[in-house]
Amino acid sequence: MKKIITTNFEETQQLGFDLAKSLKGGVVCLYGDLGSGKTTFVQGLARGLGIEKRIISPTFIIMRTYEIEDKNFYHVDLYRIENEKDVEGLGLLEIMKDDASIVVIEWPEKIENLLPEKRKDIFFKYLDGDRREIVFE
Ligand code: ADP
Ligand code: MG
Repeated sequence: MKKIITTNFEETQQLGFDLAKSLKGGVVCLYGDLGSGKTTFVQGLARGLGIEKRIISPTFIIMRTYEIEDKNFYHVDLYRIENEKDVEGLGLLEIMKDDASIVVIEWPEKIENLLPEKRKDIFFKYLDGDRREIVFE
C-alpha cells in the first residue's frame, strides 16, 4: 500500500495524471467523503488520458462519457443513488466488462456487489485545510 499526502489540489490532479499513463483499461474505484478530492483526481486523470474537456462532476446525471482515440472514458458518480437498482439502465455492467474502456467510479460502495473483482481501489481522506490522504496499492 502506498500512502500519499497531497497539500494542494494540483498535487492530487498530478496523481491522477500519473495514473493515466499506466492505465490500459478497466475499473478504478474512488472511495472517500465529499470534498476528499475524488473529482479533483479525475480531472488530472482525464487530462492524462488526453481529454481536454473540463471535467464536471456527473453527480446529477450519474455518468458522463468522454471519447478518447480508440476507447471511451466513463466518469461515474453514484452519490445520489439509493441502491443497485438505480444503475439499471445505465449499461454500467456491460461497460465495466469491457477491458478497453476506462471506468472511474466515485461512491463505488453504493454498488459494492456489482463491482468486478479486478479493479483498482483508491481511498481519499480529508485531513485538514488543503491536505488530503490518498491510499492505493
Ligand atoms: P469529491 O469529489 O471527493 O467530493 P472534490 O474533488 O470535488 O471532492 O473537491 C475537493 C475540494 O477540495 C476541491 O474544491 C479542491 O480544490 C479542494 N482541495 C484542496 N486541497 C486539495 C487537495 N490536496 N487535493 C484535492 N482537493 C483539494
Ligand atoms: Mg466528486
